Amino acid sequence: MTAKHSYCDILIVGAGPAGLMAATWATAQGLGATTRIIDKRNDKIFTGQADGLQCRTLEVFQSFGLAEDVWRQSNHMLEICLWNPDENGRLHRSSRIPDTIPGISRWQQVVLHQGRIERLFLDKIKKSSGDQCRVERGVLPEQLDIDESKIDDPTAYPCTVTLRQLSDEEATPPQLGKSAPNGLFRSALAPDDTPTLLQNKAGQREVVHAKYVIGCDGAHSWTRRSIGSKMEGESTDFVWGVIDAVPITNFPDVRNRCAIHSQDSGSVMIIPREDGLVRFYIQISHSIQNVDRNTITWEAILGAAQKTFAPYTLDIHPNDVSWWTAYVIGQRTADDFAKFDRVFIAGDACHTHSPKAGQGMNVSMMDTYNLTWKICSVVKGHSPRSILKTYQSERRKVAIDLITFDHKFSRLFSGKPAKDAADEAGISLDEFKHVFETGNRFASGTSVNYGPSLIVGKRAEEKQDDGTAVEEPGALSKPELSSNRAGETRIEVGKRLNTAQVVCQSDARPWQLVDWMPSDGRWRVLVFCGDIRNGAQLSKVEKLSEYLEHILVPQYTPEGDDVDSVIEVLTVSKSPRLEVELTDYPRALRPLTTRWHQPGTGGTGQSKVKSQDYWKVFTDDDTYHEGHGHAYEKYGIDSRGATVVVRPDGYVALLISLEDHAALGEFFSRCLLPASQHLWTRSRG
Ligand code: FAD
Repeated sequence: MTAKHSYCDILIVGAGPAGLMAATWATAQGLGATTRIIDKRNDKIFTGQADGLQCRTLEVFQSFGLAEDVWRQSNHMLEICLWNPDENGRLHRSSRIPDTIPGISRWQQVVLHQGRIERLFLDKIKKSSGDQCRVERGVLPEQLDIDESKIDDPTAYPCTVTLRQLSDEEATPPQLGKSAPNGLFRSALAPDDTPTLLQNKAGQREVVHAKYVIGCDGAHSWTRRSIGSKMEGESTDFVWGVIDAVPITNFPDVRNRCAIHSQDSGSVMIIPREDGLVRFYIQISHSIQNVDRNTITWEAILGAAQKTFAPYTLDIHPNDVSWWTAYVIGQRTADDFAKFDRVFIAGDACHTHSPKAGQGMNVSMMDTYNLTWKICSVVKGHSPRSILKTYQSERRKVAIDLITFDHKFSRLFSGKPAKDAADEAGISLDEFKHVFETGNRFASGTSVNYGPSLIVGKRAEEKQDDGTAVEEPGALSKPELSSNRAGETRIEVGKRLNTAQVVCQSDARPWQLVDWMPSDGRWRVLVFCGDIRNGAQLSKVEKLSEYLEHILVPQYTPEGDDVDSVIEVLTVSKSPRLEVELTDYPRALRPLTTRWHQPGTGGTGQSKVKSQDYWKVFTDDDTYHEGHGHAYEKYGIDSRGATVVVRPDGYVALLISLEDHAALGEFFSRCLLPASQHLWTRSRG
């Protein structure tokens, strides 16, 4: 049988959280028809695995319009209780701390089963691609070749992947459980969880020619092996069990996140979940050598938990066990995240670690959130291929930080508490609390700070959070701006833009500023214009507006497309809303854009109209019902104002004074291509 040949812009291998985020991002940028996503598994939904969603992940979900569903369905985790042995070795609650550092984000950490999150992604992909992009299940990639002679040609398809359609038997994940399944299995949570029928096509082969391949195929990644990337790191000996169940217990904190260290009977972490479920992470043994894997059953894991919980009781009826498994902790990172910047790996394919810090799914999705807009921008011809290098430089550092954190956290969690100061083999519970508290900031995902690059304009010798200097060619000079920066919301180049409440000049409605920056692939220039009642300030703003309207924006906007289709300008003013009019702002800050219009009675369908865009100018002022947002103060911007460039993924790329047009122009000249070179525009589709 001759194999069929086909072409696509992006081929995603693996439809776990990382792969689905990549597909969601690509379809949100209009590449639904030319993006394919395959998975060897035939099940859509399963129980078990990840459930924790960190603040940054929820911020990103919100930018896709998904956060409110997750917020409603999930269990909210607000408090962490630490339980330790007292001086008599008896378990007691030694402290309570907030689960999410207050003020760090508008969202707090929540817990929702991975299968439901995948369901939300699948629905979103279907909607934004007009059902043109679907997960193709039971499909296995067998061979990957990259034509090196074509890698620098932006219009070429240098990646060739041979796919084989599996039979139902081959595509069904093995059931490893005994009295209850302990692996992936179908769940009753989603009503439309119907199996994909594969019999008719089994054995068929297809050769796909792709511009880019993203390997999101998990810890045993085929893509990683195909590009010769190696996992570096180590495995520990600690054996842990996980049970998702509805427990019967007299332990008072079972609906809070808990870290329990018993004197001599191991440790347990409690994660309260949705639908009355509780996840227990239970240490089974200090050493894999002491454990016969065949003897690990859920009853044995429960037995270990009961010892840690004593004198409290813990019982679970077999019917109330939703899922269980056992694992050995290992911390590894891939040495290369990309081959020729044509094939990339993301998620568990390039980093593995223990699940207790709740990071795997979050960091995996953030990998492809970082990568996919860059690939889409290059595919459209909006950006040069050089921006793709920043995927590895930005995300490998996050992976290494994660492994370092996880190593420390797991060791402290798995170790026995020191009996006294002389007990050197034991772990210090004070140190554990400190690592837990400081780790919370890292684990929230909000502290990620990307180093200087083509798309992060900060001085090369500027220090990262860990104190290391990152030198990269192409870094811009430090912007000239002094400010009274303070707190969690201040604007920092390299970090995500936190939100602040502002009020719309034209209709008085309060908004979270970031809600006007959805994930749609556009760059944003935020003009913090100060108070335009001041003549000198207005003059600075007018000059910047002239520059934006006549020089910067047209350079990158294809003819016929809206002025905000590649770079959107949003204004945050310090002028009291009632003392200025929308028309007092320069024209470039309130442009005409295309809107869909539903004709009145007798009209059919929708038509496009060009009209004043009333939702581009916001003020930092009081509102009738929701108070004052104090955005300037939160962001650390003073009365002189500032220009802030925000990347399509919400990270701050540049912070400069309003007058520094040259730095703005230079920045965009490195990461965007002139409109005449675009391969894809909104008007052409
Ligand atoms: P996966 O979820 O592994 O998805 C990979 C996909 O690729 C799968 O669908 C697979 O079928 C497919 N695939 C594999 N090979 C191929 C191939 N050759 N061809 C085609 N398709 C292929 N993370 C958290 O953030 N929070 C938590 O609370 C948490 N708890 C966890 C608890 C447990 C017990 C475990 C085991 C993990 C936990 N994790 C947690 C980790 C989390 O599940 C993973 O980090 C996350 O699923 C990784 O996402 P991914 O998309 O990279 O890979």
